[in-house]
Amino acid sequence: MLHVTADAIALGREVADKDAAIAQVGDLMVQAGFMDPGYIDSMRGREQEANTLLGNGIAIPHGLQKDRELIHRTGVAVLQVPAGVDWKDGEKAHVIVGIAARSDEHIRILSNLTDVLADETLARDLAQTDDVNLLLAALNGDTAPAEPVRLSDYEYQSVVHYPAGAGLHARPATFFTELAATFEADVRVRNGDRSADGQSMSALLRLGVTGGCELVVSTQGPQAEEALAALTAAIRDGLGDSGEPEEAPVAATERAYAGVCCRGIAAAPGIAVGPLMTWHSTEVVLQEEAGEPAVEQARLRQAVAAATAEIDDLVRHAEAHQQRDEAGIFSAHRGLLADPDLLQRAEQALTAGVSAPVAWWHCIQKEVESLRALVDERLAGRASDMEDVGVRVLRHLDPSAVRTRALELGEPGILVAHDLTPTETATLDRDRVLGFVTAVGGPTSHTAILARSLGIPALVGMGPEVLNLRSEQAIVDAAAGLLVTDPTDQDLKLAEVVCAQATRDHQRAWDSRFEPALTRDAERIEVVGNIGSAAEAQAVVDHGGEGVGLLRTEFLFLGRDSAPDEDEQYAEYRAMIEALNGFPLIIRTLDIGGDKQVPYLNLQAEDNPFLGVRGIRLCLREEALFRTQLRAIYRASRHGPVKIMFPMVGLLEELRQARALAESARIEVGADPVDLGIMIEVPSAVALADAFAQEADFFSIGTNDLTQYTLAMDRMHPALAAQADALHPAVLRMIQLTCEAAARHGRWVGVCGGVAAEPLAACILAGLGVNELSMNAAAIPAVKLALRQARLSDCRTLARQALTRTTAAEVQALDLQADAGEADHD
Ligand code: PEP
Ligand code: MG
Repeated sequence: MLHVTADAIALGREVADKDAAIAQVGDLMVQAGFMDPGYIDSMRGREQEANTLLGNGIAIPHGLQKDRELIHRTGVAVLQVPAGVDWKDGEKAHVIVGIAARSDEHIRILSNLTDVLADETLARDLAQTDDVNLLLAALNGDTAPAEPVRLSDYEYQSVVHYPAGAGLHARPATFFTELAATFEADVRVRNGDRSADGQSMSALLRLGVTGGCELVVSTQGPQAEEALAALTAAIRDGLGDSGEPEEAPVAATERAYAGVCCRGIAAAPGIAVGPLMTWHSTEVVLQEEAGEPAVEQARLRQAVAAATAEIDDLVRHAEAHQQRDEAGIFSAHRGLLADPDLLQRAEQALTAGVSAPVAWWHCIQKEVESLRALVDERLAGRASDMEDVGVRVLRHLDPSAVRTRALELGEPGILVAHDLTPTETATLDRDRVLGFVTAVGGPTSHTAILARSLGIPALVGMGPEVLNLRSEQAIVDAAAGLLVTDPTDQDLKLAEVVCAQATRDHQRAWDSRFEPALTRDAERIEVVGNIGSAAEAQAVVDHGGEGVGLLRTEFLFLGRDSAPDEDEQYAEYRAMIEALNGFPLIIRTLDIGGDKQVPYLNLQAEDNPFLGVRGIRLCLREEALFRTQLRAIYRASRHGPVKIMFPMVGLLEELRQARALAESARIEVGADPVDLGIMIEVPSAVALADAFAQEADFFSIGTNDLTQYTLAMDRMHPALAAQADALHPAVLRMIQLTCEAAARHGRWVGVCGGVAAEPLAACILAGLGVNELSMNAAAIPAVKLALRQARLSDCRTLARQALTRTTAAEVQALDLQADAGEADHD
């Protein structure tokens, strides 16, 4: 394991430029016997490929993987340049941490540096200090002890409760250390069984103090009593943190809005306020040129007859397949079309010499508007049926009249749509779309996943009536599952309070995002990100993610006319690896099918795409497509730590064939082996987890699909999506079986489905034995904070409790604190 020693640290150096800095730190590493002098060139080579400036004046130059033979033994040296040296576009590096590591050991240094990266004051201290111990402590992860630091309290002691609010974050910690330094006294602060030196800001931060925590402050030395009194009073006063009283949180279930409320399924968290903007994916372009009225009338009658015949077929088909809902809807459409008044009004317009499409569409529009104006919601809901019928006839009148419309938005507002494809969602303009609601869709659809990663509050599965809503101002409150139209002033005020509350919670988590997710009993859970692009890889790092647990490569294939070739894919993967700057990247091979359709691949339409040729099944049938991707991944793997993961594996033969293909692609491009893991998404993979664990290097549980296949509930189904809950005890048992099998064979397990992003679920999953949680970047800070505030022993108790429950609602009602207590008394 990497460990920095004092003789490999050079303080107070001056260097002319970056090249000289690399040479100097390289010399230190050569003198320490870590490496051959040739590795210095390799370190320069790495800088050509990816800049190693981490932020806050810290750079971590290290060589290229291909040159690791030049390393004699793993080691780290530090060059401190107080005046700084230009490292990247004018940004200076002051602390240059040279790393020679034969594998990805430098990731531990990165993780130890997370405290420093989050803390400008500490970074500045490291840049200027002449105390080598300060650097040693920061780099050697005295920040991440195996056991909690428990020091005995000093002679003078007082007990004080930390005030409610944002907890002991960087600003109050600075306030405390600065105050402590004004006394001739040693100071200790203890939170439960963790103690910290009161002069050390990072040690104070690691205490994980939140509002209401009971702290023991103790002092010794000539001014012990005065220091104790002043520090205790300062804590009570909030350590200089804004004295603004916080509004009491309003739980999602308690939010009562007076406006018109429509219920949906939360797809992405948050709250948004703005006008509703309805988007129809089709647009009508009318042909104005008219023939004789009699000709136009015949045209119109023919079109109505053809549309009626079409609807008759649809009703018959639905009835034959026992699709009662569909049959009912189409019968109603037939009824609308059979209304003699409608045809009569359109025919009257023909006498004025307009074309049949113009007359018909004009008439339909008027009907739609008057239906929308009705107060009775059920009748108003008929407006979209009327529009649907109108479009059907119009297509017969003039097939070119109905065109697909691009998503273009004017003013910022809340987008209302029947549905959005993943491609449409991915290209939404974040400045214009404050939130969105859709008539169909489920919370684990890829549209919802993208909304979460874009940070757009969203509700799905709202039903077709949503398309008829009009409101100058509306509220999307995703946590409450509500769209509120015509909100009252009181509603808008409530939305503001909820927003402020979310901002505060967010800030609390954000401030500590670079700290590792080390539970209070010192167990580490890796928290990583799910991505679909290089920009998202950067976002994961910025949000405190420790790598990528799932790259959905299929997103690179969506929204274009042809598949990316090997070079293009290689360039994308490489850009992601570089953005991660040493953190690991798990690349999932193509998972096309289900709700991710790629038109240009000309795949056969399927009745049941989620049970069809999807994921690894498709790749094994489309070998050329698969091989191209594998070659690109192996080529990119030269640039940083990469693992490969196969999706939707349900049969052992699939894993064997995929491994064999991967191996042949690897040999073709001459790359080193990488770990090959599988997604656990199909019940058969759980049942055979012991066998899979012998042939896969790791497991990552895709709870979105595992839930859909375990509970037999389509993840996109508007009526079922809310019940398809990954915290259902049946799914948790699947996860438990997977973790147990993996542990028996020394494999690690991750979870990369949507549930990993929920703080309560994250604790249950950690308690079940999951080692890594992968989620959208935005969720990372809150999940890390939740884990840091928990004990793994309590999470295990919570998981045991969850496994004894019989419904998802009972699991959702569990509470980490209360249930740990409950078990303590068992
Ligand atoms: C899953 O199924 O949980 C998963 C992560 O894969 P995807 O959502 O891309 O199907
Ligand atoms: Mg999946």
